[in-house]
Amino acid sequence: MAKKRVLSGMRPTGKLHIGHYVGALENWIKLQNEYESYHLVADYHVLTTDLDTSEIYQNTIDMIIDWLACGLEPEKAPFFRQSQVKEHSELYLIFNMLMTKARLERNPTLKEQIRDLNMDNITIGYLSYPILQAADILLYKGNAVPVGEDQVPHVEITREVARKFNNVFGDVFPEPEPLLTRFSRLPGLDGDSKMSKSLNNTILLSDSPDNVWQKLKKAVTDTQKVRRNDPGRPDVCLVFTYHKKFNPNEVENIEKGCKSGELGCVDCKKMCNDKINEFLAPLLEKRIKYENDIDLVKNILAEGETKARVIASTTMAEVREKMKLG
Ligand code: SF4
Repeated sequence: MAKKRVLSGMRPTGKLHIGHYVGALENWIKLQNEYESYHLVADYHVLTTDLDTSEIYQNTIDMIIDWLACGLEPEKAPFFRQSQVKEHSELYLIFNMLMTKARLERNPTLKEQIRDLNMDNITIGYLSYPILQAADILLYKGNAVPVGEDQVPHVEITREVARKFNNVFGDVFPEPEPLLTRFSRLPGLDGDSKMSKSLNNTILLSDSPDNVWQKLKKAVTDTQKVRRNDPGRPDVCLVFTYHKKFNPNEVENIEKGCKSGELGCVDCKKMCNDKINEFLAPLLEKRIKYENDIDLVKNILAEGETKARVIASTTMAEVREKMKLG
């Protein structure tokens, strides 16, 4: 039986952090063996919030190196840029005719982002980026999309777009299912609920052991554990969340030690530091190979884009035929 197809995408924001690994890449690596997977560099999506395109190319290369270092295999699951497969824009244009402004404005994720980013005037492109996402997914007839909870409303919009197109013009598209990431969010070093480069609270996948420690030793912990022997509350401490992810075998002892006051925060952070660096060591080694051979990275992207264009042009031919265009 043919494998189901999955489309995963990320904006090219440069070097990735451990939150990206936990929230997306770890899942993508697993999915590339279970599904026919495609990996999209969502470079047009960057324009929805930032018109400065001067660093998009370098950010793309940095991100792709992280993808490769983590274990994504482009031979199995191609990488490609949205801007280099023109059918994304074409299908986006058609899909824009299927969705009302009112429906897009009801999108809870969008409302939250507008509030968080303090945006007064939003562009048409920003309002309609879930439609561009729908085009990204449906161009490859994705059956599933790996997402965090906050992206589920967008997958619902994709499903609505697919349904509307199929009803009006005839069946072309599947209705993709969201594949929820189990461990979807890692808190930032400042205690913010989200690790994010814009908040400067990250541990990068490319950080050296020394960098990791410099960052981790300043990380916010339970504010009520002031002295070493004070009992702590691991459930409100971000370092404990990191332990759960990178040091699962010692979680029970750390929880006991923290609660009883036997374990101090510095020692706890040192243990966490060791485990995170243990996880990052093979990634750093792999990075060197790609950083020293950027042509290899460019070729990986070019090959992925050739493969993506074949599927995208086939879908668009079907769309035009159903719509009696051309
Ligand atoms: S001992 Fe560890 S888990 Fe407890 S508050 Fe300190 S850093 Fe957090």
